[in-house]
Amino acid sequence: MFKKILVANRGEIALRIQRACRELGVQAVMVYSEADREAKYVKLAEEAVCIGPAPSALSYLNMPAIISAAEVTDAEAIHPGYGFLSENADFAERVEQSGFQFIGPTPEAIRMMGDKVSAKQAMIRAGVPCVPGSEGELPDDPAQIRRIAKTIGYPVIIKAAGGGGGRGMRVVHTEAALVNAVQMTKAEAGAAFGNPAVYMEKFLQNPRHIEIQVLADKFRNAVYLGERDCSMQRRHQKIIEEAPAQGISRKLIEKVGERCVAACKKMGYRGAGTFEFLYENGEFYFIEMNTRVQVEHPVTEMVTGIDIVKTQIMVAAGEKLPFIQRDIEIHGHAIECRLNAEDPYKFTPSPGRITMWHAPGGPGVRVDSHVYTNYFVPPNYDSMVGKIIVHGDTREQALARMRTALAETLVEGILTNIPLHRELMADAKFMAGGTNIHYLEEWMARRTR
Ligand code: ADP
Repeated sequence: MFKKILVANRGEIALRIQRACRELGVQAVMVYSEADREAKYVKLAEEAVCIGPAPSALSYLNMPAIISAAEVTDAEAIHPGYGFLSENADFAERVEQSGFQFIGPTPEAIRMMGDKVSAKQAMIRAGVPCVPGSEGELPDDPAQIRRIAKTIGYPVIIKAAGGGGGRGMRVVHTEAALVNAVQMTKAEAGAAFGNPAVYMEKFLQNPRHIEIQVLADKFRNAVYLGERDCSMQRRHQKIIEEAPAQGISRKLIEKVGERCVAACKKMGYRGAGTFEFLYENGEFYFIEMNTRVQVEHPVTEMVTGIDIVKTQIMVAAGEKLPFIQRDIEIHGHAIECRLNAEDPYKFTPSPGRITMWHAPGGPGVRVDSHVYTNYFVPPNYDSMVGKIIVHGDTREQALARMRTALAETLVEGILTNIPLHRELMADAKFMAGGTNIHYLEEWMARRTR
């Protein structure tokens, strides 16, 4: 096992990784920007290094600063968390060239999955079901683009090969709008991701977002830890996640899970990963793979009892997975609500000083958050200030626990989306389960009318 790890991230995930290190008896070096000096995990750290000013480009995305922080503190490995450099293959490569272990897959695997076109091609080869679409990148010729769309059938969605975070996508309903939409998406993708390549998929009308969590070691052992339902989204961004997914047959999950495991073995994948799918009319369609730990990993931890972050560190250190597929059992139901510092209905960010923070507790309640009373939420980063995760024997019990937890969560000084979560946890359709990816936005539209 490593003696010391550098945590190259911020916010709740930095704290989460620090917790896993403590449990493993590994020292964690925390890094922080000038805006994050006051974060809980920095205050609690045995060692912390300032890596630059507030803007991410100068701190959390600053590769030389992060690698020198690992050098001066004698860390052996770097955990990238999620976001920032976590899916940057060049960073993984530089970490390894500098003599550190990157806690994640190989740079080659990150690169292949980071390009959604090559990821999809790899999945097709591995027998993972995909959304029908263009074979690879779209050509420039308008006539050819029209032909491809006609074969797929409208509506179609144009997606950037290098896209992420819900950006770089455009839905097209008619042939008249097609070529212009492709050109606009290309221009945006070039500016935002440095890669103008786009591809086309059938736009599924009413799918659910279901994803499969995998863990793999360096010896081609891999398992899947069941699924998560992340259909509650606004602007293609998840805000509520749960496991297991209501109303999907275990047989089907098993079949898809086994395909994901087979794909991992074929790629020589190592570490934690997520295969994201759209699910419609009883079928799964792969959309992308995330080669890192995800925000919503705790719901899987709650139903399987497996610590995903600890396992990431163990397999990076060269240990074998401590379990096989047969050992993995799903118990009860877990739900996560992401707490964002934002206007609950307009979603505009609400940074500033938290004058009162009272986190919930009680049976089956977990809170992952780096904030506290008198903490200042900096305006420079993502608005998520924490996550409430609950577990119950049944979905009904988990819902009741989430309602209880939200009722006793008090945050003052900034706006948060807690009121939105409270309403959704009492919404009849959400309570019935199985809502699709459009449900939240339709619900919002109805609410404001
Ligand atoms: P990102 O990497 O930006 O998260 P994804 O490919 O994972 O992009 O897609 C994000 C979300 O966009 C999905 O969860 C879904 O809501 C929507 N989406 C993507 N592809 C399709 C599609 N073919 N049909 C319908 N919705 C889609």
